[in-house]
Amino acid sequence: MEISKLAASIAESPTVKLNAEAIKLRAQGEAIVHLGVGEPKNKAPQNAVARAVEKLNSGEIKYAPADGMPSLKKAIVQYTEKNYGRTVDAANIIVSDGAKHSLFNLLYALINPGDQVIILAPYWVSYPEMVKMMNGVPVIVKPSDGSFCPSISDIEKAITESTRAIILNSPNNPSGAVFPDELVAKIVDLCEKKNIYFFSDDIYHKLVFDGRMITPVYSFTKKDIESTNVVVINGLSKTYGMTGFRIGWVVGSRQLVKVMTNIQSQSTTCNSPICQVAAEAALTGDQSCVNELVAAMQANRDMVVKELKLIPGVKVAKPEGTFYCLPDFSAINKDSMVLAEFLLKKALVITVPGREFGAEGHLRISYAGAAAEVAEGMARIKWALDPNSPREMQIGNKKVVRDW
Ligand code: PMP
Ligand code: GLU
Repeated sequence: MEISKLAASIAESPTVKLNAEAIKLRAQGEAIVHLGVGEPKNKAPQNAVARAVEKLNSGEIKYAPADGMPSLKKAIVQYTEKNYGRTVDAANIIVSDGAKHSLFNLLYALINPGDQVIILAPYWVSYPEMVKMMNGVPVIVKPSDGSFCPSISDIEKAITESTRAIILNSPNNPSGAVFPDELVAKIVDLCEKKNIYFFSDDIYHKLVFDGRMITPVYSFTKKDIESTNVVVINGLSKTYGMTGFRIGWVVGSRQLVKVMTNIQSQSTTCNSPICQVAAEAALTGDQSCVNELVAAMQANRDMVVKELKLIPGVKVAKPEGTFYCLPDFSAINKDSMVLAEFLLKKALVITVPGREFGAEGHLRISYAGAAAEVAEGMARIKWALDPNSPREMQIGNKKVVRDW
């Protein structure tokens, strides 16, 4: 089969692939511990499920407006007011099939062939591929000091006549780092002076630890929603553990939203109304599930960091948010793919090679799962990598012997 040159250049999402792999191996009875995918294991909020069931039972499941149901958009207007301190209109919001799809439509609306999009490493696996899907050019900026946070001069150096946008994700997948306010303020300022879009991927903005809060991105611009270069992307997947509902949104100027609506109306038509009513219920209902998730993730973070520090040669920066950690294993093996494959084969633990995020020598460990499972995964990693480990370990119903 001859596929298009563009399609041939796009890699499969490694996080999505590894998730499917974990499901398959588990179905085959393998005692897999899945520290691969970024997906909280808590159930969707009860009121969201009830609303979806109610909608289903009504039998009235029809097309919705392309930009989203008015009642859900109203809930997002309120969310934006409450969490960002910005009053926006429903015409500033478009709902799509997950934040991934929101970002796709956003890039589709704004990127011309050859336009450059600055992506800060370490980065989420889908950013470069999505830019490529628009015939755009991903420009990766790696922090020159080896940290997880570039300096403003690292970013400035990457800007050219063709730079169209910068994507920032804080707290960050995969590092868990929160970018300092001063840096975000400088990047927003730079973008507005040079007329570059600033895409704020806020999908983890509520998942921050130690009592911190993310400063709303609009506080870094004096411009109103119609003229600012800041565009917000957010969604329900992470905060409410509603990954399968596929709800994400963009907040931007009316003109941008209109163009994105045209695109959506010609591609997916609209989101499923079953998911949209559930999303509205999650956003407007009791928010204690969010606090509970943050507390559980913080406890998992503490445990993971403590365990990693016990493995000789591993360096770890304490994540400030998300449910990811990106330890440096290069003293054990510089090739993250080899290391991830080794851990899967010997310890039945799935991790994601840092190479996929532009961080070779590291592994991304997702601690989004239940505490007991994450602890089991960490015990197995430690056993497999620490030369001082006991010779044998019980993994599932097998006794595994260290022979490496
Ligand atoms: N942005 C980042 C940084 C992510 O990690 C994810 C993970 N799924 C998304 C966007 C998209 O999330 P979703 O499509 O499930 O809303
Ligand atoms: N964003 C999550 C992750 O990084 C889910 C999978 C994906 O969409 O990449 O694991």
